[in-house]
Amino acid sequence: MSLSVCQPRKRVAVIGAGAAGLAALRHTSCRPEVFEVMCFEQSAVIGGTWVYNDDVGTDQYGLPVHSSMYKNLRTNLPKEAMAFPDFPFEKDGRSFLKHEEVLDYLEKYADHFNLKKYIKFLTEVKHVDPVKDGHGGVTWNIKVKDVRVADDTSDSSFVADAVIVCNGYGVLGRMHFNGSLTKFEGQVIHSHDYRVPEAFANKVVCCVGCGASGQDIALEVASKAKQVYLSHNKPALSTSLPDNLSQTSGIVELTADGGMMKNGQKLEFDVLLLCTGYHYSFPFLSANCHVNIDDGRVTPLYKHIVHTEFPTLFFIGICTKLCPFPQFHNTVKFILATLDGTFQLPPKEDMMAEEQREFEWRLKKGYAHRHAHLMGPLQWDYFNELADLGKYERLPKAVQNLFDEIHRTRCNDLQNYRNINYQITGPETFEVRY
Ligand code: FAD
Repeated sequence: MSLSVCQPRKRVAVIGAGAAGLAALRHTSCRPEVFEVMCFEQSAVIGGTWVYNDDVGTDQYGLPVHSSMYKNLRTNLPKEAMAFPDFPFEKDGRSFLKHEEVLDYLEKYADHFNLKKYIKFLTEVKHVDPVKDGHGGVTWNIKVKDVRVADDTSDSSFVADAVIVCNGYGVLGRMHFNGSLTKFEGQVIHSHDYRVPEAFANKVVCCVGCGASGQDIALEVASKAKQVYLSHNKPALSTSLPDNLSQTSGIVELTADGGMMKNGQKLEFDVLLLCTGYHYSFPFLSANCHVNIDDGRVTPLYKHIVHTEFPTLFFIGICTKLCPFPQFHNTVKFILATLDGTFQLPPKEDMMAEEQREFEWRLKKGYAHRHAHLMGPLQWDYFNELADLGKYERLPKAVQNLFDEIHRTRCNDLQNYRNINYQITGPETFEVRY
């Protein structure tokens, strides 16, 4: 049964105004009779990851530079598959966009749905704590800080009935590698701090990790570097690569001037560029929130979203390797369905049992522990299940079909797959656009 209008409005706090936070705002703010929404964003602008910054390290307020965006990035998904389902990108122009075009899209989304008025900018969430409400549930105490003020005098507190965590997870790079980094005397950087290939002119660079960023950055660096090694333990990429970019296996041990590879090669390189992903981090959640992060797995989460002990604490963006914006849209709709009573969450024990069952199923299927939230081909059934439970529209099949097509074209021709443009032509169909 849906929440009736005579019940008090639920106060929903959103942490972060990247794409996920904006989606949360868009769907809560359009139902003012049910939800009262506030959003806290530590920077001065919306967009999160899509706000390119030449700098690395800390910003003018001493906060870690949030974005991992690099200067020449073009999206690895076409805009036709990237869009929020209720807000298409402009039809014309190429499908694979520059980062500034995605930021522009998010600005238009925020303006169209009039979202900025709900955002407290330059406001860092420092502390989130559950407080018993006397009826068996909790409310949330949220302590925030004006980032422009160095001491604690600007701290203030808010109370919410529900919290949606949308802080992104691209700041704490996984310096992941078997063995010690200290032996290596060359330069070590994480892809979070990669900006331009010119920084590696005439150098020999070993890029570790063959995810989307590893592949893209290795290609880009090869345009300036003397030699690039793409080091990974996945099956070799079958696409053509530039002459000065070669694939090798994972590193077994670093030496002062390079490393020993699993395949027996001894390679010398000047730079070790770690494209090894990120750690989840929720520094503002108090110990009382009972959120555990263990080797890439965040618990206790029902369907990767809902805290099983405190089912008014939600997370968006935990799942990886999927269509991010459609996923955010979906996840918010599911969260709101639990809050307005459209979907009755199962008892805590059942949610915990399901979480454990799903995790064990993954391990049996051969997923690594750290891939507890990896979706890839699982995403479509997952999206559909959420939509059916929350009683809202499923994503059009055309998005799945296009996503799968890009996966194929990318594997076949990493250097050129972005030169093709697409259009969605029906609920299940897309075509190449000339
Ligand atoms: P973010 O964009 O990281 O936003 C989080 C926000 O929370 C930030 O604004 C931050 O300032 C704020 N915040 C954090 N902590 C606090 C706090 N304590 N208090 C207040 N505010 C806080 N996706 C695609 O769809 N297509 C692509 O081609 C693509 N390419 C990518 C390339 C790179 C290099 C990277 C890193 C990601 C890429 N992605 C891509 C994925 C991208 O991360 C998602 O599309 C999406 O933008 C993530 O949004 P988010 O809101 O979850 O997180």
